[in-house]
Order: sequence, then C-alpha cells, then structure tokens
Amino acid sequence: TNRTFTMLKPDSIEKGNIGAILEKINAAGFKIVALKMTQLSVADAKEFYAVHNQRPFFGELVQYMTRGPIVAAVLEKENAVEDFRVLIGATNPAEAAEGTIRKIYAESMSINAVHGSDSNENAAIESNFHFSGREMF
Ligand code: ATP
Repeated sequence: TNRTFTMLKPDSIEKGNIGAILEKINAAGFKIVALKMTQLSVADAKEFYAVHNQRPFFGELVQYMTRGPIVAAVLEKENAVEDFRVLIGATNPAEAAEGTIRKIYAESMSINAVHGSDSNENAAIESNFHFSGREMF
C-alpha cells in the first residue's frame, strides 16, 4: 500500500461537507491515517502552490485557500495517489466524471472542494508539511 495527502478546501468546510466527503473517501477503500482541521497562512499557501506562482489565478488561489479552515488528511490504500485523483475527478467540475468528489461538491475550476497529491514524492512532502510523525498512524 502507499499513501496520499488530501485537503478538504475552505468551501467544503463552509458548506458542511466534511462528513460526506470523508464518507466517500472511506467508501472508496482509503484508510485515514492522519486527520486535522487547520488554517493555511498566506505564506503556507504561497509555498504549497509555489509551482503556480506565475499563473494569472495565483492571487485568487492564495485568497481562496486561506479564507477559512481546511481539513488535512493522509490516506492509505494500494495505488493511493493515482486512485485518489480518479476519485476526486478533473480540476474543473464541469469536466469531472459522474460520481467523483469534484463533480458532486466543487463549484468551479477555482473553487473545487478538494486537493489530492500528484505524485508519491509530493504526497510525502505535503504530509510532512502538515503532520508530525506522531500524528501519522
Ligand atoms: P490540486 O493541486 O488542488 O489537487 P489539481 O492538481 O487538480 O488541484 P492544479 O493544476 O495543480 O490542479 O491547480 C491547483 C489549484 O489551482 C486547483 O485545484 C484550482 O483550485 C486552482 N486552479 C487551477 N487552474 C486554475 C484556473 N485556470 N483558474 C482558476 N483556478 C485554477
């Protein structure tokens, strides 16, 4: 098995969707091995999304990701990174497959409910950014 990192983004918390999204994650066979509610600082969000810092939507992305609390989690499953990206669906909910988390819960390409790591390497970096060793089981 391996692990991926997810964040339920501020819109998911604002809408009361934490429970429903975690239920979907469990139902798809992922085991939650770390979990917390926290809030990203502007510096955290700029670092987390540094790869996008030259993109026109960067300011909007940082504003969105810092506007309220997020729920961070580490998930374990065989083929976790790839399978979780299938479960969340395309970045743009209009293009996301039926039944995916973004199809059901995202409102737009920019306000899109959840994050999922895009590689094993980034999953480890992102998990260690949010959780100490004692907080991951
Ligand atoms: P994430 O990294 O959050 O899992 P992703 O890998 O599907 O999302 P990325 O291309 O890494 O998508 O973009 C990161 C985030 O930036 C997106 O989830 C979305 O919130 C925002 N974003 C991406 N592209 C756009 C865009 N064209 N316009 C507005 N916001 C965007």
